[in-house]
Amino acid sequence: MEYELEEPENNKKWWKRAKKGVETPTNSKMETPDGIWHQCKKCKTTMLSKNHAENLFVCSKCGYNDRLSSEQYFQILFDEGQYDVFFENILPTDKLNFVDELPYPKRLEKAQATTGLTEALKVGKGTIQGIPLVIACMDFSFIGGSMGSVVGERISKGIDEAIRSKSAFMIISKSGGARMMESAFSLMQMAKTSAKLTQLAEA
Ligand SMILES: [Zn+2]
Repeated sequence: MEYELEEPENNKKWWKRAKKGVETPTNSKMETPDGIWHQCKKCKTTMLSKNHAENLFVCSKCGYNDRLSSEQYFQILFDEGQYDVFFENILPTDKLNFVDELPYPKRLEKAQATTGLTEALKVGKGTIQGIPLVIACMDFSFIGGSMGSVVGERISKGIDEAIRSKSAFMIISKSGGARMMESAFSLMQMAKTSAKLTQLAEA
């Protein structure tokens, strides 16, 4: 009788772990380097992440294009994958005390923790075939690449840097639109960035 009681208890524990996808003890899982394998979202073919990166994140079997992060764009575009990142110290704030399913600061914290990014746009500077270039690249993974004050501010500062250092300027946009949690503040960014772009065109 006692034995029968223990059996389902063990089973239950085992299934609980399996559900989380943990098939190896937690410690050894931590030691396994992340992302050795890549599985294509479309055709589900598994390939080495390294080979997939060499193929510029296009599936070698079906030609599916992965959505790229700003870091991936920078590594592909800049000479030798070398670049400096600017304005990471300009960080979002909660101007309106906005709450939907989560208070806005919590949503920002969550986005920062899951993506490892500080905002939905990153500014990198390097060269392409020796020509200096500033790139402002959006990250869709950060709250849908939505445009808040910081996104606008970083673009605008990136343009200043391009003008100052006589570099070319590129925007890689993949935005989900204005960030609703910042309301009018995000809409103001359009006027601000287009004014800056005019300055750049005249420089
Ligand atoms: Zn594929």
